Amino acid sequence: MGKEAEEASREARKLVFGKYEMGRVLGKGTFGKVYYGRELRSGESVAIKVIDKEQIRRQAGMMEQIQREIAVMRLVRHPNVVELREVMATRSRIFFVMEYVRGGELFARVVRGRLPEDQARRYFHQLISAVDFCHSRGVSHRDLKPENLLLDEHGDLKVSDFGLSALPEQLRHDGLLHTQCGTPAYVAPEVLSRRGYDGAKADLWSCGVILFVLLAGFLPFQDASLMRMYRKVVKAEYQIPPWFSGEARRLVSRLLVVNPEKRISMPAIMQLPWFKKGSCRPPPIQIPPPSP
Ligand code: ATP
Repeated sequence: MGKEAEEASREARKLVFGKYEMGRVLGKGTFGKVYYGRELRSGESVAIKVIDKEQIRRQAGMMEQIQREIAVMRLVRHPNVVELREVMATRSRIFFVMEYVRGGELFARVVRGRLPEDQARRYFHQLISAVDFCHSRGVSHRDLKPENLLLDEHGDLKVSDFGLSALPEQLRHDGLLHTQCGTPAYVAPEVLSRRGYDGAKADLWSCGVILFVLLAGFLPFQDASLMRMYRKVVKAEYQIPPWFSGEARRLVSRLLVVNPEKRISMPAIMQLPWFKKGSCRPPPIQIPPPSP
């Protein structure tokens, strides 16, 4: 590309349809980059995910996946789910305009070390309330992990990245999902077994792994060999560190149950006194103002 064309393309990227000004890159996903943006009229911050159509055309089924992500995000409007404001497209690109969640990924918080139980419980409470809402709309996320949980300026959790989520129409005649997806360390044993699974129950396993990680500061299932790690997952072979309280220990061990039928249910989680204590608001976290 010549220098002038390059300049013109940079300018075009800067202003999306004359509505949004685009700034720095916030992150990179499988399908494209996410940019910081500002709505010109209101000055409001947004996050804009830019997807290259050519790239997704080259991979079978990817266009359907993007369409599903849009449909799901429109369906699940909840305070703990990243809001999709609008979707725009040119001949070559798709733009997802989302609310800007400025506190970064929960993952960054966890790599600094384990959280005090009160804080872990509050994140877990918000996670469960978002996931329960998705399930009530027939949506299973299928890729829950701290990298997909963002924090806003109040320190509240927002579930993002519905790229792998499933809608009810994907269920086969047996009422189960059959696509193997998710991230190995967080994925439920029944998803690995390829026999078909209930997406909502599989999400609860991932919530169990997330709760473990928040409280422990490390993963329950890990191994240098992927095969050995899978073996640990399918047998639920893990050890709870001694600093977990009795209630937290009991909840983790009722979530990380191999048989999905015997795994604790959503209503049962919500009835636990330990869980109910998680609804109180925390002090806001300190976040620097956004830079364009
Ligand atoms: P993949 O889609 O491959 O699973 P991902 O979750 O990293 O990857 P994206 O959802 O495209 O992909 O997001 C990439 C990164 O951009 C995120 O990890 C996050 O740091 C940032 N990001 C995404 N959405 C927002 C948002 N609404 N506000 C602020 N930052 C965001």
